[in-house]
Amino acid sequence: MSRTDTRPPFALLDKSLKAFPDSLVTPAFIIDETALARNARVMGRLAEETGCRLLLAQKAFSNYDFYPIFAGALDGTEASGLYEARLGRETLPDAECHVFCAAYRDDEFDELLKYADHIVFNSPGQLARFGAKARRAGKSIGLRINPEKSTQEGHAIYDPCAPGSRLGTTREQWDRQMTPDLVELLDGLHFHTLCEQDSGPLAETLAAVEEKFGDVLPRMKWLNFGGGHHITRPGYDLGLLKKCIRQAQQKWGVTVYLEPGEAWALNAGYLAARVLDITENGGVKTAVLDTSAACHMPDVLEMPYRPPLICAGEPGEKAHTYRLAGPTCLAGDVIGDYSFDEKLAPGSLLLFGDMAIYTTCKTNTFNGMPLPAIISRKKDGTLVKVKTFGYEDFRTRLGS
Ligand SMILES: *Cc1c(COP(=O)(O)O)cnc(C)c1O
Repeated sequence: MSRTDTRPPFALLDKSLKAFPDSLVTPAFIIDETALARNARVMGRLAEETGCRLLLAQKAFSNYDFYPIFAGALDGTEASGLYEARLGRETLPDAECHVFCAAYRDDEFDELLKYADHIVFNSPGQLARFGAKARRAGKSIGLRINPEKSTQEGHAIYDPCAPGSRLGTTREQWDRQMTPDLVELLDGLHFHTLCEQDSGPLAETLAAVEEKFGDVLPRMKWLNFGGGHHITRPGYDLGLLKKCIRQAQQKWGVTVYLEPGEAWALNAGYLAARVLDITENGGVKTAVLDTSAACHMPDVLEMPYRPPLICAGEPGEKAHTYRLAGPTCLAGDVIGDYSFDEKLAPGSLLLFGDMAIYTTCKTNTFNGMPLPAIISRKKDGTLVKVKTFGYEDFRTRLGS
């Protein structure tokens, strides 16, 4: 496999990032240990000051080599199903292991019981099917509720409270399906309705939770606030979050869990890529890169959003504007339009920001694209290889 490895023009990089060696093979995810530690400190202080318990939602960030950085701050991991639960149990054997899945499988449930401490069910039907078994195995059992309070605009695919949503049990479903025997099985309730949000929408959601489920909360041991809290984002209102946590603790006597994913690894990673070619069509200059939105940063197309790029401006802001795109056959494999002080050329090194979340765990090899290496940026700025990938990683998923 031949990949470009020419000398990068470091003028494109932020000064603090000039340490990247010429030999850096791209594409590569660079996970910044200093930034992870900074996030962990914010999270640890929150837990200390409020007594809430903090879980890492692994679906956003599951590069387990870095979990030890969070060790002092987190109480456990949150899993979307069997494999993430197993990963959490294997990599942090002494931490709590929580799992929520919209529907569990009969042929997986016994194994899941080996890993999970808390099992959250999505519906009264799932609770009826598996709840007694989980209880006999000594698990803490929860039900995900849907407070029917949408607090986000624009991103319908990230709104579990959208009309007709399958995620969580509404009060109407509860009243229709929750027999006293099923209610008896419950240790806690769980809601997850936010996405990259501040604590204001959490306060609104909590009011809706109280309105819909306030009568059943006093008999619960815990309440899980789910994820979507952008706790480590500069400017996040931590005061209101603490107020929400204390209010739930005092009003209902529950242990409060938070299970953010993004907040742990926010602004803690880069995707390094190089320019392979420049094309021009109808006045649009496109820099074709050795990375792909579709394969390496699928949220750019799914959400969609334009990722930050170190030392680049808005289109037209700096002297040279380019559309950045992937080398795949997908016409829409476009990352976005950016401008630069200097012209781009084959070999130019580019560094996308905030690339630790929903990236390494979402990559794919569509078009036979190579997977980016995973590199750790240590506290002293040195880069250490965590994992590289090759042809076998592409091939082994496709056949015998
Ligand atoms: C996605 C998800 C999370 C984590 O969300 P972030 O936006 O990454 O904080 C937590 N809990 C559940 C149930 C989720 O689906």
